[in-house]
Amino acid sequence: MAPQERSRPTINGILDALATRVGLTLSLVGLALICFLAGVNVERSVKKLDDYQHSYNDRLIRNGFVSLSDIQRLLLSAQEAVEKGEFTAEGEQAFIQASDFLFVRTKHFRRTLLLGEPFAPSEDAVSAMEAMLDVSERAVATGLVNVPGLWDELLATSDDTRRKLVIFLEEMARLQNALMLDQSRAVREQRTVVLASLLGLTFVGIAALLLLRREVLGRQARDRAERDVEFLAYFDKLTELPNRAQFQSRLDKSLTKHEPVALILVDVDDFKTINDTYGHAAGDTVLRHVGKLLSAQVEASDGFAARIGGDEFAIVLPTDDLDELTRKCNRLLQEARKGLSYEGETFHVGLSIGFATSTLLGQDLSPSVDTICRVADFALYSSKSNGRGRFTQYDETLEKRFLERQSMVDDLPHAIAEGELAIYLQPKVYLPNGTPYGFEALVRWKRNGRVVPPDEFIKVAEECGLIYEIDRYVLRSATRLLAEYNHAHQTAYSVSVNLSALHFNSRRIIGWVEEALNTSDLAPGLITLEITETAELRDWQEAQSIMSELRELGTKISIDDFGTGYSSLGYLRSTVVDEVKIDRSIIDRIETCDKARFLLDGVLDMASNLGLVVVVEGVENSAQAKTLDHMGAARAQGFLFGHPVPAEQALGGLPHVAGDAEVGYDRRANERG
Ligand code: C2E
Ligand code: CA
Ligand code: CA
Repeated sequence: MAPQERSRPTINGILDALATRVGLTLSLVGLALICFLAGVNVERSVKKLDDYQHSYNDRLIRNGFVSLSDIQRLLLSAQEAVEKGEFTAEGEQAFIQASDFLFVRTKHFRRTLLLGEPFAPSEDAVSAMEAMLDVSERAVATGLVNVPGLWDELLATSDDTRRKLVIFLEEMARLQNALMLDQSRAVREQRTVVLASLLGLTFVGIAALLLLRREVLGRQARDRAERDVEFLAYFDKLTELPNRAQFQSRLDKSLTKHEPVALILVDVDDFKTINDTYGHAAGDTVLRHVGKLLSAQVEASDGFAARIGGDEFAIVLPTDDLDELTRKCNRLLQEARKGLSYEGETFHVGLSIGFATSTLLGQDLSPSVDTICRVADFALYSSKSNGRGRFTQYDETLEKRFLERQSMVDDLPHAIAEGELAIYLQPKVYLPNGTPYGFEALVRWKRNGRVVPPDEFIKVAEECGLIYEIDRYVLRSATRLLAEYNHAHQTAYSVSVNLSALHFNSRRIIGWVEEALNTSDLAPGLITLEITETAELRDWQEAQSIMSELRELGTKISIDDFGTGYSSLGYLRSTVVDEVKIDRSIIDRIETCDKARFLLDGVLDMASNLGLVVVVEGVENSAQAKTLDHMGAARAQGFLFGHPVPAEQALGGLPHVAGDAEVGYDRRANERG
């Protein structure tokens, strides 16, 4: 790592510390302290200078006085000799000593004078002292014999010297004083300058610190923005879970470790309905709720939950323990079903779950992200197509089924266009002798040389939306076939066409039935539209309204597969129904099961009261036919009377004098109602 990079965090750390409120305050206090200390220092220097000035003056004055006292001393020793008339040995000694002192003092003055600028008062004083020194030295040289003469001379010179010394001292003191005052003034001026610059420095410092603070805050904001961008890149903002990008990279990492990995895919059931009905805020609340439920399942594990699409979530766990995974899935479903409240509403959240583990895909190879996602998706798809609100564990058959379905989805559109759909007809007959009066049209798919039964592709067609085209095609073809036959043979055979419940969520079907009636010219009363009550029939009110419009066109409405759970006796009271088809599962048990008989009895009774036609389906043997006939069932359908066969074959062997009882020529005597 480059040293620059290493030191940057420390510098940034210091800058960050400085830019905080505390850091800034401390810096300002520091600057103020420096100013204060500098001020105190200058003040102290000024004071010291003042003191120095004082002490300088004192010394000069002291020197002046000492000179005066030297002169006094010389005079005293001379005066003593005047009083005694001559110098004693001690007196002579004292005089010579005083003269020497004066000599030293005078020489000192003269030297100082030579060094400095010419100055008259000092010149005068030194000259006077030299004159006095001359007197004393001459006297010493001549042996101090003429005392009165010496005394007179000394008196005369000492007066002059003392006067001039005093003048010199006064003048000196005055000049020094003036000098010191000037210097003090200069220093004071300096102090102002120093203070002003310190003040300026303080301002500069404050400005610099503020700029620094702004810079650091700006950098911190940029860092935060960078972190936000990073968060957006790897996390989902709504649920705060890892997003798809992070999910893929972490799953990839887990898979390359060659340790067991489980992938659980979770879809929110009917999320679109929640969003459309209650608004996006409600949808968001549900997604956040699901996110939390998933997070709870990965707590205290090395796994993680992620949001990988609109209402798609995933859990990745480092395990292949199928029991543990099953427990987790069950808990998730349970927790979700508890629901959540939102603005007074309680949403019961349904989840569809599919999971796979790396171990399920083969012991020793570690699957790719795509592979494990794909197989978990098969499991998820299976949960969805088996009614949602459940979980499925991946196995190979799921994959086969899925791939088959996929190839059907790919091929189905061509099947319609290229005429691969065939119309099979199964007769509907009167009991007990089995005279046909009409047919049920049942679709077949001739695919790669095989006749595919509708059970294998109708559900797929419903899921991918192709059912509309298929039913429209069967409706058109079947009505045309029967119209042509009836026209050719002067018969009135009716035809029943199955319609997926999905049609009753939209009014398009009305136009399509009209279209079939117009193009075929079949009497509307010879068309029965069979509808099975399923979960797809979402809005019964709307469905009823569509059915009554279809009845206004003259066609009949039949409730198919009656007795299989969804439909109830209540539907029979509905004014829009003409016919009820009793499901094969009831007929199967009609001889052995009281409950089945009881139900059929009730339906027949009710139908006769309401003027409904009852058709019993799946009659396979004559014993069943007999029982049903005895119970009062008038119309039937089943292998006993004829299998579904290609239309030409079914119409080929018909008696040319038959048809539907209500429109036709051969009305049966035991028909109820
Ligand atoms: P479905 O409407 O209940 O049709 C009757 C089914 O029972 C037919 O199966 C028929 O072959 C079978 N069946 C008739 N008699 C007997 C019998 O005696 N014993 C037994 N075991 N079965 C009998 P298929 O043709 O395989 O049709 C299955 C389902 O596919 C139909 O049930 C219907 O719901 C659906 N379907 C068929 N054609 C169409 C279509 O054109 N459009 C739509 N939407 N659904 C269709
Ligand atoms: Ca049917
Ligand atoms: Ca049926």
